Amino acid sequence: MKFWRTPLDLEKQLVPRGDVHILRERCKGCGFCVEYCPEKVLALSKLYNKKGYYPPEVVPSKECVACKFCELLCPDFAIFITEKERVAAEVNRGEG
Ligand code: SF4
Ligand code: SF4
Repeated sequence: MKFWRTPLDLEKQLVPRGDVHILRERCKGCGFCVEYCPEKVLALSKLYNKKGYYPPEVVPSKECVACKFCELLCPDFAIFITEKERVAAEVNRGEG
């Protein structure tokens, strides 16, 4: 996660990690979740669903931070997040 400045108590903070659940057959491929995910966790898949739309999938190298913004934005309730754990924030005082 990127911060615009490094919080002074960063060592004490835990960053949530989420499991992304995509209901492929509900999705209409609008791409809102892909466009607005702050961590760029999602991309449209290359496999279409029964309605002929391309639902999102998780980009393997990315980590969901369980902000649930995609869940809030999705007009078709086709994506939801469950929080699986909280991990220590990466501390890099050399940058920012
Ligand atoms: S919960 Fe947040 S970080 Fe995770 S996929 Fe949705 S928008 Fe992206
Ligand atoms: S916002 Fe919902 S309907 Fe749109 S692409 Fe994402 S999961 Fe599909």
